[in-house]
This record gives sequence, C-alpha cells and structure tokens, in this order.
Amino acid sequence: AWARGRTVNARPRVFATRNLPGGALARLAQRVSLEVWPDPGAPAREALAAGARDAEGLLCLLTDRIDAALIKGCPRLRVISSCSVGLDHVDMEAATRRGIPVGYTPGVLAETTADLAFALLLAAARRIVEADGFLRQGRWTWERRWDPDGFLGRDVYGATLGVIGLGAIGRAVAARARGFGMRVLGWSRSLRELEGVEPVELSELLAEAQFVSVHVALTPETRGLLDAAALARMREDAILVNTARGGIVDEAALAAALRGGRLAAAALDVFAREPLDTASPLLDAPNLVLTPHIGSASVATRSRMAELAVENLVAGLEGRAMPRCANPDFADFAAG
Ligand code: NAP
Repeated sequence: AWARGRTVNARPRVFATRNLPGGALARLAQRVSLEVWPDPGAPAREALAAGARDAEGLLCLLTDRIDAALIKGCPRLRVISSCSVGLDHVDMEAATRRGIPVGYTPGVLAETTADLAFALLLAAARRIVEADGFLRQGRWTWERRWDPDGFLGRDVYGATLGVIGLGAIGRAVAARARGFGMRVLGWSRSLRELEGVEPVELSELLAEAQFVSVHVALTPETRGLLDAAALARMREDAILVNTARGGIVDEAALAAALRGGRLAAAALDVFAREPLDTASPLLDAPNLVLTPHIGSASVATRSRMAELAVENLVAGLEGRAMPRCANPDFADFAAG
C-alpha cells in the first residue's frame, strides 16, 4: 500500500549467506532487496551478524550458526529460511520466542541423500576407494592382475541392514536395500510399521545387522547415540554408515573400534566438527571411507532445495504460511 509521500511497503531486505545453484536467487532478487554474501565459502560469525543486522529475511545454510545472540542482534528479523533439512544450527526456541518462523527443505533431498548412503555402503563393502588407490599407485602388477584373495569385501546381497531412524531418508535407504535383496531391520523413536522393515529395539539392531545406516536427526537425545558401548554391541564383521550428523557417532570410539578390528569398516559423510580436523583419529583409521558432507549434492536436488528455501522465505515475508515451516506451532503462521 502507498501512503502519501512515502513507500510503506519498501522491498524487504534479505541477507543470503551464500549464492545458491539454479535460478532461485535471481527470482528472489526481483521481489526483495537482496544482499548475497559475496565471498566464496561461508561468512565468518562477525560477517554473518553484520550482514543479517538490518535484514527482515535471512536465507541461511547449515554452516551458519543462528543462535540466540545472533537473533537478538537482528531487531528487524521476521523470517529465517534455511536451505537444509537439518536444523541443529538454528536455535529454534529463540526464533520461536521472537515469533520468527523458520523454513527448511525436507522432502526434496531424501532420495539423493539415500543414494549417497547406499553409495557409501557399497564403497565400504567392496573396498572401492582402496582398490582405486591401489590401481592409481601402480601397484596392479602383472603377477597380481587377478588375485584370488585380493580386495575381498562383504556381500550386500542377502545381508541384513539395520536402519536407525525411519524418517524420509531412512525409509528411502530401506527401499534401496530391499532392491538389493537385503533383510531390513529398523529402529525409530516412534514405532513405525513399514512394509519390508522388521521393527526391532536398537540393541537388537546393533547386535544383528551386518550393515548399520544412521538416519536420525541430531538432537540432545540422539547426540552420542552410537557411543563406545553401542559400537561394542555391533558385530565384528559389521559396516557402519553415517550420513545423518557427526555428533550421533562417537568418532574416537569408532576410530578405536576400526583400529582394533572390532568393526569391519565404516563410511562417514558427516562429522562432529566440520571441516574434519586434520588431527582427527579418523584419518588414520583403517577401512574407512570419508566424504565431505555431500549427501544432498546433486545438481537437481541443490536447485530444488534453493527453490523451496526461497518459497519459504517469500511466504514468511508476505505473512503467508510457509510451504515448510519447522516451528512446531507455526503451521498457520501469519506475520500480519
Ligand atoms: P526426517 O524425515 O525428519 O527424519 C528424522 C528422523 O530422526 C526420524 O526417524 C525421527 O524419528 C528421528 N528423530 C528425531 N528426533 C529424535 C529423537 N529425539 N530421538 C530419536 N530419534 C529422533 O529427516 P530426514 O530427511 O530423514 O533426515 C534425517 C537427518 O539426516 C537430518 O536430520 C539431517 O541431519 C541428516 N541429513 C544429512 C544430509 C547429508 O548431506 N549428509 C542430507 C540430508 C539430511 P521419528 O520418526 O520418531 O520422529
């Protein structure tokens, strides 16, 4: 609406902490006054606080810590939209107390992340990375051109997979496992009856499964869920895959279990602290495949995430319900 002599609906100011793939930000720039963090990589904390200070909308990623202090330092902030499904980087309580709806991007990346979980499972089972290195290092000699006991791995077909957390990604992994002829055990906080998934207690899953794939969200209850005691319950021939969040698995205990031969192999896409410290015990552990948090990294999925994050942001700024709002009681949030 126009008031005499001045604009009362000036374009809302939005700070985006990173350029995003696809055309979503270009479309956003037509509707809001958009400032995008110009440097490659994530802004440091001070730069994030400075960029967000006068913003009404904040478009962030999981690399941006949106804590109570940051929110407090942004008096005009009305909407937060994170281009991620995990929200452990956002202080949801602080946002909700301020009446700020927080958008996120569930649903659009489940299949892509499940693909990576399965790629890691197969890579660890069949020692793909180790074999690739062997060939590239010129160690594939004439005498060893076909070794009867070279690179013996584990069969995926016919093996038992335990899925920890039967959310969207856990279920998508279970579906892939059935296609590979695996028996699937599943544990989830809330009892879920799923076709082809045998519901079991966590302790039973850990004791029985030859492959364990982690898909719970990181919360105070799931932090350290796979600690030394839980890892000790696993079979010695088991392979652990984590594409959820690093804090769920005790990294020192995992490195020790791999070194001691108490676990056959593991594959991790996520770490308690990212980037992984160059002094991490994981880097010297045997039979471990590591990727740098690339679960959702496909061309199509990253642009779909950006689209949804922008839709959430615009809806919030216009006082409409966000397509995907994470605050439990904000389903019908209208900024008014
Ligand atoms: P989702 O559909 O929301 O599922 C979350 C799962 O976590 C559900 O099984 C849920 O149990 C469980 N959970 C939540 N709080 C819990 C608690 N306090 N105790 C025990 N279980 C709890 O999410 P999703 O799309 O499957 O994603 C799962 C996680 O994967 C995300 O939170 C994110 O951290 C991670 N992720 C990683 C990547 C990557 O790049 N590597 C990409 C996407 C997601 P209920 O079913 O009982 O609620």
